[in-house]
Amino acid sequence: MHLLESDLKSRLFHIEERIKKAATKVKRDPGEIVLLAVSKNQPIEKIDFFYRKGLQYFGENRVQELREKYRQRPDIGWHFIGHLQRNKVKYLLRMDNCVLIHSLDSWSLAEEINRRAARHNRVMPVLLEVNVAGERNKQGIRVEEVEDFLAEARNLNNMEIRGLMTMAPYVETPEEVRPVFNKLAAIRKEMKEKGFNLRELSMGMSNDFEVAIEEGATIVRIGTSLFGLREVEEIQREV
Ligand SMILES: *Cc1c(COP(=O)(O)O)cnc(C)c1O
Repeated sequence: MHLLESDLKSRLFHIEERIKKAATKVKRDPGEIVLLAVSKNQPIEKIDFFYRKGLQYFGENRVQELREKYRQRPDIGWHFIGHLQRNKVKYLLRMDNCVLIHSLDSWSLAEEINRRAARHNRVMPVLLEVNVAGERNKQGIRVEEVEDFLAEARNLNNMEIRGLMTMAPYVETPEEVRPVFNKLAAIRKEMKEKGFNLRELSMGMSNDFEVAIEEGATIVRIGTSLFGLREVEEIQREV
């Protein structure tokens, strides 16, 4: 195998240490934070390595790529994290081990997920993606719509909203996105007080996951810091 196992091992070690440190800093139990390994554009060998090392969940952002990887590794717990088109929902619901969709961002998508889940006799866990910073050209529902969306979604028997997710704007320093994570956590708190059962907060990626943990993230989505550069990026670099 061409990739260096010792390199991957030390990356994993360092990420886990950083997660622990960030959690401890705010007196949280590191054990309550899920490290979602974002494996898009990464080869199956690296996924296998981290799976053997105990990582349980892997995230993909394109349905086609997930289907290919799922065919090869149906036992892994897969998360879908990318923008999801309605006509692709059926592929995800066929995968028993696609265990969480992070990117519910419209009502029509909710209805389609519910409809397809019913056909498979399952209740599909999802996260509601919120466009916290109100950026244009950004997926996610607006902050003001969250409560009504959650209330309406109670009528969908085959889909369960387990929490909230956000994609922070790209910035130079992680501290700049703290208000975004803080806001998402505040929305969750408010909605919990209103009786919505939102366990998860999916926020934080390679360059800002420590800040996200300090603000309450329960799932951090980490790609490049764990795996190294994605294949396409490596190719682009070579050019
Ligand atoms: C690619 C991706 C990530 C991981 O990004 P890195 O910066 O490589 O850690 C996290 N979340 C989503 C939705 C992504 O598409």
